[in-house]
Amino acid sequence: MRIDCLQQGAEFPRLQASALLIRDGGLRAVVDCGERSSRVAILTGLAGCQTSPREVELLVLTHLHFDHCENVDLFERALVVVHWREVELLERLLRETTVDGLRALLLEHHQALPPFYLRRILQKLTDHRDDYARLLVDRGRLHLVEREQQALGGLQIVQTPGHSIGHLAVGVPGDRPVWIVGDAVTSLRDWLAPGSEAPTFCWNAAEAHRTRRAIGQWESVVVPGHGSPFDACTGAPVPFRDLR
Ligand SMILES: [Zn+2]
Repeated sequence: MRIDCLQQGAEFPRLQASALLIRDGGLRAVVDCGERSSRVAILTGLAGCQTSPREVELLVLTHLHFDHCENVDLFERALVVVHWREVELLERLLRETTVDGLRALLLEHHQALPPFYLRRILQKLTDHRDDYARLLVDRGRLHLVEREQQALGGLQIVQTPGHSIGHLAVGVPGDRPVWIVGDAVTSLRDWLAPGSEAPTFCWNAAEAHRTRRAIGQWESVVVPGHGSPFDACTGAPVPFRDLR
């Protein structure tokens, strides 16, 4: 399988999530699709891979934080793979009619949520409500993940909860397996930080730690949500171009 980076992730304050294209024979799969402001970059990245958004059959969303999921509509023919608990939470958020109600629900679902992110999520859910609602309208396009682990199009989809309530990671087989782990690990810097350090942004800290321990045992190349890939055994950075 060949992996190409459509958009390289960056940490706060630039804050953009990595988006990746996986190709294998006829398969075209994308993992995470950035926020609205990344639209041109994602389309440019696809064009550089001679791939039209309409050719993408699978769009896996590691989770429904805004920086990972706002361009779903670009991939009009893709099956959208997302954990059912992420969708359930989004439905609950969209039923809230007041900012206070939204804030309360977000705080209830995050043990740690820095004020900056709380403000951004609230702003997104109020200013772009229709975009998020559209994600839920065409239920036939959603593939709701319920199992711990499943294979889809030759990819492994595994639950990695902690950062968010229904976070997913995507395993790409090969001589050197690659795991695209979204914000289960945000960056190499995050990976190398002492394990006892409490996550600054998470649904559940204990689950986040459990997930990170599991990722450490996969002995693979890890693509974090917001930084360069790295070898999980050695901690050495791996350039995006070497993923293929
Ligand atoms: Zn996130």
